[in-house]
Amino acid sequence: TQVYLNGRFINQQDAMVSVMDRGFMFADGAYEVIPAFYRVPFRIDQHLARLDFSLSSIRIENPLTHEQWRGVFDQLLAENAGEHQSIYLQVTRGVAADRNHLWPKGLVPTVLVMTSPLKMRLDESLSDIQGITAMTTEDLRWKRCDIKAIALLPNVLHRQRAEEAGADEAILINEQGQVTEGSSSNVFIVKGNEIATPPKTMPILGGITRDLVIELLQAGTQYKLSERMLLQSELRNADEVWITSSTKEICPVTMLDSQPVGNGNVGPVWHDIAARYQQYKLQLAAD
Ligand code: PMP
Repeated sequence: TQVYLNGRFINQQDAMVSVMDRGFMFADGAYEVIPAFYRVPFRIDQHLARLDFSLSSIRIENPLTHEQWRGVFDQLLAENAGEHQSIYLQVTRGVAADRNHLWPKGLVPTVLVMTSPLKMRLDESLSDIQGITAMTTEDLRWKRCDIKAIALLPNVLHRQRAEEAGADEAILINEQGQVTEGSSSNVFIVKGNEIATPPKTMPILGGITRDLVIELLQAGTQYKLSERMLLQSELRNADEVWITSSTKEICPVTMLDSQPVGNGNVGPVWHDIAARYQQYKLQLAAD
């Protein structure tokens, strides 16, 4: 497997970074995960725009132009295995001479890009898709979850806790009893004719998949779409719950905190949006 590290394409086993890298010492960096279906990066402009936002928010200058990023992705996608791949990129502040919270001037950011084979979930008959289970847990993170920072310790602990409780994803609840997002996903609920998701004014990651779902819903559907605060009680009483992410796509949650969501089956509104999403994806691939 080839990876890109600081300007070179090398074997993954040969990719080494100093222990003085501020990514290792302080989790001082940002990242992106970009799905590539049929070896074409999906919603790439949106991902590169979010990378620019994350890096400027933590005061690291983007070391590559968008053209350069695209070139790196294309080369890795061509050389690595997988009709569908997930691109992981990370930029850290660089390697410092000593361990000091304060960053020295003139650091050169460390750039890593790698890919791994991705199972496209929404490629089979939609009626074969099974729901997943989720559990709610207290959101323990900081106030800048809009930045895609590599510091993921709370997310790791949330996800591990969910796994050990037999759940596939942790849905995070803030101190006010409101839903923020999943440990690595955004959350939607359906109740009657309304589809609702927490607003980006909350400390959540602006998911690229979330935005696409909203875009597809706004393009002429009969549902009322709301970006609004959701209470934990609304989550529990919803007809349908979905989580969205670049690698999980749109995923129906059919068990929540050991109780069935709605009637416990994958719901009709999910089928509707999943079909639209799948059509959009295949359209792009055909272009
Ligand atoms: N929230 C968090 C905390 C995440 O880690 C992710 C996955 N990167 C998402 C939401 C979903 O974002 P996207 O749709 O851009 O993958």
